[in-house]
Amino acid sequence: MTESNPAQPEPVEGAARTVADAIRAATELLGSRTDSARLDAELLMAEALQVRRSDLFLRHMRDPEPPAFAELVARRAAHEPVAYIRGYQEFYGLPFMVSPAVLIPRGDSETLVEAALAARPDAGRVLDCGTGSGALLLAVLHELPQARGIGIDRSEPALAVAAANATRLGLGERATMIRADWHEPGWGNNLGGPFDLILANPPYVESDAPLDPTVRDHEPAGALFSGADGLDDYRVLVPQLPGLLADQGVALVEIGYTQAEAVSAIGAAAGLSATLYLDLAERPRVLEFKKALGKSGPSA
Ligand code: GLN
Repeated sequence: MTESNPAQPEPVEGAARTVADAIRAATELLGSRTDSARLDAELLMAEALQVRRSDLFLRHMRDPEPPAFAELVARRAAHEPVAYIRGYQEFYGLPFMVSPAVLIPRGDSETLVEAALAARPDAGRVLDCGTGSGALLLAVLHELPQARGIGIDRSEPALAVAAANATRLGLGERATMIRADWHEPGWGNNLGGPFDLILANPPYVESDAPLDPTVRDHEPAGALFSGADGLDDYRVLVPQLPGLLADQGVALVEIGYTQAEAVSAIGAAAGLSATLYLDLAERPRVLEFKKALGKSGPSA
């Protein structure tokens, strides 16, 4: 029998790995699936231990691996997004609950929130078209205490997530989530417009785009895909914006980074002028639409 040496313990057959060892092994396993393997492994370990990630480093690295961790790593290895596994995603510094019924809020979409706050810090009425988790609307209402808003979505399960987020963020009094679909005639008539701010992150991905399986196999297709060129929803929604906007109103519309020209042209044909905003990676990401001066669009 070998003498035990406290500095270099013999590996004991069947003994639990430490949290640190388990994170290392999971990082290696996930490395072939994602660029964020180490971060994902840490977030899943924090979830398995029900602690914050910062507490993981401070207190838990030498604890035994919790039994729940392996299952969470297996789900991630099958490309399930970390946000769905945790049921949570931070956006604009706020905690949002997410489920597979809603698109996971992206850092890139924070550009839209910044643009909205800069354009109309005085906004009273806000409409979010395709609200999903409610992230855009609730981030804006959180920053603008005088504003009230409506989030619409065609998906009832998404609206339930959005309403729960509004309540949890203390915004339930100022945010109303309503089922509506901009493809249906008259959908905007009873929303209480006109609006000072309209926010929209519609589906804009080409139907055959080569998406990462984490997105394609897990996030809601109805929130992603919009026809062969990804522009179908803009063609329907953008021409309706002048009829929903107050005269000095501003609409902020998220776009795919190759779509600025095409979506600006759809706006121009509807009597809207466009300003482009770039995302954190300096790619085109948001168009700010206003009613063009001296011209009135078809629906204005
Ligand atoms: N930006 C999202 C993506 O990851 C797409 C969001 C959308 O279609 N609205 O592909």
